[in-house]
Amino acid sequence: MTTNEDSEDFRVYLMRRQHQKKWLAEANGGSEIAKLVLWAASNWMKDMTTEHSACSCCDRLLSPGDVPNAFVVLIPTVRDPEKAKAKAGAICPECNAHDDRWLIDQAINRQGLSPAAARPGDQIH
Ligand SMILES: [Zn+2]
Repeated sequence: MTTNEDSEDFRVYLMRRQHQKKWLAEANGGSEIAKLVLWAASNWMKDMTTEHSACSCCDRLLSPGDVPNAFVVLIPTVRDPEKAKAKAGAICPECNAHDDRWLIDQAINRQGLSPAAARPGDQIH
């Protein structure tokens, strides 16, 4: 079998801090997506204690004391969700003022990913 099943497609989710409780409720309700989004965001927070992290949308550095107002999370659309490697990026307070679409577009561009491969994730509000 030489079929290339590595798809670069991914879904993009934006989790704002004020919606975090709803994401937690979704995760507790069994949503795999919500679990991945929260897992990726908490991983990001852990990494932040050992390295500088820049905003996903601009070059502003977030310092370890900052709690990001929002995260952009990329979740590859693969068959086995347990093997999915979700990737989170934090949004700085200045960029947080922009709307969801702007944040997602900026984050995708800065990851060097094709906007065509990105599908907006279901909004959980
Ligand atoms: Zn920013």
